[in-house]
Order: sequence, then C-alpha cells, then structure tokens
Amino acid sequence: MSVAGGAGVRLVLMGAPGVGKGTQAAEITRRVGLPHISTGDLLRAAIRDGSPLGRKVAPIVERGDLVPDALIGEVMEERLSRKDAEGGFLLDGFPRTVAQADLLDRILARRGQALDRVISIEVPEPEIIERLVGRRSCGRCGATYHVRYQPPKVEGICDRCGGELTRRPDDTEAVIAERLRAYREQTAPLVERYRKTGLLLSVDGRGRPDEVFGRIVAAVPGLRS
Ligand code: AMP
Repeated sequence: MSVAGGAGVRLVLMGAPGVGKGTQAAEITRRVGLPHISTGDLLRAAIRDGSPLGRKVAPIVERGDLVPDALIGEVMEERLSRKDAEGGFLLDGFPRTVAQADLLDRILARRGQALDRVISIEVPEPEIIERLVGRRSCGRCGATYHVRYQPPKVEGICDRCGGELTRRPDDTEAVIAERLRAYREQTAPLVERYRKTGLLLSVDGRGRPDEVFGRIVAAVPGLRS
C-alpha cells in the first residue's frame, strides 16, 4: 500500500481500553505506512525484556493503573525522536493525561509540527468489558482475536503465523474495572480538550472492525488512498 497517502499525517487514536484501538491502528498502518507507536506495546516489550524501565512499570501495568507521566515522557521523547517518526505517526494509547498532552504539544512545537487529527473511538462500557474478557492475542506476531466474535480457525493458535494465543494479564475483570476507571478519570477529559481545539473526530466503535475502519477512513482525508 502506498506510503504517500499517510506521509506527514500526525494522528492520535484515543478511546477506552477495548474499543479496538490496536486493531484499527494495525489497519491504518497497513494502509498508509505510518509508524504505529503504542505506549502499551512499548511498556509490555520493556517488561518482557526485564529492562530497568520494565521492572519499574510492571507492577503498575499489572494493577491497571497509569504509569507516571515522567516515565511515559521519557519513553515518548525517545520514541518520537527516532527517524521513522519524522514524517508522521499514529499514536495509540498516548497521550492519556492532560500532562502527557502538554508534553506532546511541546515535542511537536520544538519541531514546528502539530497534530492533524485525534480520533476517539467510542464504545459503551458493557460491550467493552465483554470484548476485553474474550480478547486473545498472538505472542509471536501480535494479531488479535476474540473467542466469540473473531475466533481463530484452530482454538488457541494464530491463523496468520501459527503462534500461541494468550490473554493479556491485565484483561481480567478486576484489572479491566481499574483500567476503565483510570480512563474515565484521567483520559476522558482529554477528549473535551481536543474537541475544543477542533482536532477531535468521534467515531462509533460498534460493529465489525472493517465497518469501524470505513468510518475512520471516510472522515480522515489523509487516509484515503
Ligand atoms: P494499553 O495497551 O494501551 O491498554 O496499555 C496497557 C497499560 O500500560 C495501561 O493500563 C497502563 O498501565 C500502561 N500505559 C500505556 N500507555 C500509557 C500512558 N500513555 N500513560 C500511562 N500509562 C500507560
């Protein structure tokens, strides 16, 4: 797929846990070749590697709380300074607090850049809980499934690469409740901020992933190829 359609586009994908940010991010990336920068993925990789950052954040991620802004700030300063982020990006799971949004504005202002669009995917909470409880992902290639709505052909095995499907340790009901609380209290206010600045695009996240993707593409000119 052509990179040209998305080059220079700076997007943020927002939404409560379980609204399908990862799935939509993968589709957007496939279509326009923007680097997909997910703070959740970066933190999980650090935890898996047992790095100093990973050891610090592991208990926080396990509980479903937000990692302190200062730590996320370091991670994102480094990630956004890499060459592949120069020509545009798709942020997933960042910013998640007002302080993080301020930091992002500062990083972009230093480079004379600005965000093009903030896409907020909206799904009612009862549906979110059902989605997260049944969510599975491939430990090898990262493909995502749902035991009921998007099952793999063979139970527990990834259709794409044959890897083993696992449940994220923070997809248990108690931790999901905590993550939703963190979203309501710390991240939802950001939606209002981006609405006021005219950057926000609210997208109905119900329905099949391709339907949701169609809504996003229809509303973001930079994604039409
Ligand atoms: P996610 O994969 O986006 O659902 O993130 C998983 C977990 O990583 C969250 O529940 C938080 O503990 C942590 N996390 C991810 N992104 C951020 C962020 N921008 N700020 C603080 N914590 C984060």
